[in-house]
Amino acid sequence: MAKTTKSWAMLHAKCPRCRRGDMFEGATYSFGSNRVNLNCPHCQMVFEIEPGYFYAAMYVSYAMNVVEGGILWVATFLITGNNDSPWLYLATILGGLFVLSPLNFRYSRVILLYWLSPKVHYRPHLDADTPTDGNKYKWFK
Ligand SMILES: [Zn+2]
Repeated sequence: MAKTTKSWAMLHAKCPRCRRGDMFEGATYSFGSNRVNLNCPHCQMVFEIEPGYFYAAMYVSYAMNVVEGGILWVATFLITGNNDSPWLYLATILGGLFVLSPLNFRYSRVILLYWLSPKVHYRPHLDADTPTDGNKYKWFK
């Protein structure tokens, strides 16, 4: 059976250890719950590795917002050619970042767990259709 690719798993916000279980409740733009699950529903990995672990995602989210704001600023200039009004840029950037905020919430946590958590590794034997009790394995080694 083919293993799940890292890029697909990151795009769909799957568990970094098994790449099967959903990290979040609900859809990205749902009006319902949009929280991080406590455990992976497939391999039981605890997503919040230690209390307050996702505070570090604020730094990732900040960097994402700076990059997105810059892209929106350049796009606004290229589309409108505006050199007069700062309000157009302010409205475009703030509105764009508001629309993108659910994505930033999600992907800042995904990037934190996939790229910035050195103790979290992909376990190919957990990437199977049959749910496995991942707690038999030490995920942090
Ligand atoms: Zn998992």
